[in-house]
Amino acid sequence: MTLHNAATSTDQLVELDKQHFTHPWTVFDVFAEQGALPIASAEGCYITDSHGKRYLDAVGGLWCTNIGLGRSEMADAIAEQCRTMAFANPFVDMTNIPATQLAAKLAGLAPGDLNHVIFTCGGSTAVDSAYRLIQYYQNCRGKPEKKHILSRKNSYHGSTYLSMSIGGKAGDHPPEFDFITDFIHHLSCPNYYRAPAGLSEAEYLQQLLDEMESTILTIGPDRVAAFFAEPILGAGGVIVPPEGYHQASWALCKKYDILYVSDEVVTSFGRLGHWFASWDRFGIKPDIITTAKGLTSGYQPLGACIYSDRIHQVISEPGHGRCFAHGFTYSGHPIACAAALKNIDIIEREQLLQRVQQIGPYFQQQMRTLEDLPIVGQVRGMQLMVCVENVRDKVSKALFPEELDIGKRISDHAEALGLIVRPIVHLNVMSPPLTITKEQVDTIVRTLRQAIERTIVDLQ
Ligand code: PLP
Repeated sequence: MTLHNAATSTDQLVELDKQHFTHPWTVFDVFAEQGALPIASAEGCYITDSHGKRYLDAVGGLWCTNIGLGRSEMADAIAEQCRTMAFANPFVDMTNIPATQLAAKLAGLAPGDLNHVIFTCGGSTAVDSAYRLIQYYQNCRGKPEKKHILSRKNSYHGSTYLSMSIGGKAGDHPPEFDFITDFIHHLSCPNYYRAPAGLSEAEYLQQLLDEMESTILTIGPDRVAAFFAEPILGAGGVIVPPEGYHQASWALCKKYDILYVSDEVVTSFGRLGHWFASWDRFGIKPDIITTAKGLTSGYQPLGACIYSDRIHQVISEPGHGRCFAHGFTYSGHPIACAAALKNIDIIEREQLLQRVQQIGPYFQQQMRTLEDLPIVGQVRGMQLMVCVENVRDKVSKALFPEELDIGKRISDHAEALGLIVRPIVHLNVMSPPLTITKEQVDTIVRTLRQAIERTIVDLQ
C-alpha cells in the first residue's frame, strides 16, 4: 500500500498505525484486532478523535497536560523559539538562553539546596541521569562500593533498562524482558488498604520502616547509595503512603548516609497543589528530584534531574580536572525549555497551584461517593490524582480474575460515554488538567458511575 503520505481517512490511519507504530505497552493480540483510537485535536480538558467525537480527558494525557491543551500562548512561545534558534549544542562550553533561564528558575522553585539541573528528554532519562550522577558522586567521594538502590514494589520510574528495573510493578516485568537485579532492592509498597488485616496504620508504618532499616543493614549501609521514591506511587495505583512515612524514611536515609531521590515526574508542577510536593506537602528535602510531564504540560518532551549543592560540591571539587561525561544531544533543548518557561509563567499568572488546592478536595470528595458501588473497594488519592480500586468482594478485598480486565471494561464504557479514564489492570486512575472546573468534576463522577454500573450489568 502507498498510503504513507496520503492517509486521510480514519480507517486508513488505523491500518497504517497497526502496521508501523509499536505503541508503549502494546498488547499485540488485542492491538492487531482493535488498533488504536486516533486523536486529532485537543483543547483544554477535552480531546477529539478523528471521527469528531469529543471526550473529557480525566487522565490529562498521561498525568501531564497540567495547564490544558490548545493554548495559543504556548504555540506562540514554541514557534518563536523555533524561528529564533531551534537548536544549540549544549555540550561542554555552549549554552542557550531558555535552558539557562529554566535551570535558574527550577533552582528557585525546588526545595532546599537543590540548585543544579541536568536536563533530559523525559522522566525515564531523568531517573537514569540521577543514578549516573549518584555513581559519579560516590566514586568521587571514595565510596565505590556504595551503589545499591532501594525502591518499592509497585513503583514506576520509567521505561529504560535501568529505570524499569528500579520500578517495582510486577506487570511491567514480564519474563520476555530482562532486568537489573543485582543492585536494586524492592521494599514493600506502602499501601495501607492492602496491609495485613488487624494492623493499625501506625503499626503498619512501623513495619514498613523496620523492613527498610533491616534491608539497609542486611545489604550494609556502606553499600546502599540511594532510595528512589515517588511521593505518591502514581502508575502503581495512586498509593498515598501512611502519614509520617515520608519523613521517617527520609530520616532513615539521613541516618545511613543514603541519598533520597524523590521521583516527582507526576507530583510536581501543580498536580498536588505545589511546585514540588516533597517539601511543600510532605516536609522532606530530597537530595535529588526528578521531574518531567507537567514541567511543559506535555507541549514538549522535557525532563530534569535537580540535585543539591552538597552533591555538586563533591563532583565539581576544584583541582581534579574531572569531566562529567553525561548528557544528551537534546539536553536543555531550547524549544522545550522555552515551552517550560511559558508553562511556568502560565501556572504562576493563573494561580493554578492555589486553584488545585481549592478544586482538589472537591474532586477527592466527589470521587469518593463512588465507594457506594458494589465493586468499588476504595477510592484514594490526593488533590488531582485519583484511583478507583475495583474489587470482586468489598469485604475480603478479593480481586476479579486478571483476564476479566475489569479496569479496561470500565474505561471502554467510559470512553463510549465520552470520558477518558486510564485502566491499570483492576484500577482506573485519573489526573485531569489543573484547570478542571467543578462542573467537569461532576461530569467525571457522574459518567464514571454510569460506566461502572454498565460494567456491573455486563458481569451478571
Ligand atoms: N517516573 C514516574 C514517577 C513516572 O510516572 C513516569 C512516567 O509515567 C516516569 C518516571 C517516566 O517518564 P517518561 O515516560 O517521561 O520517560
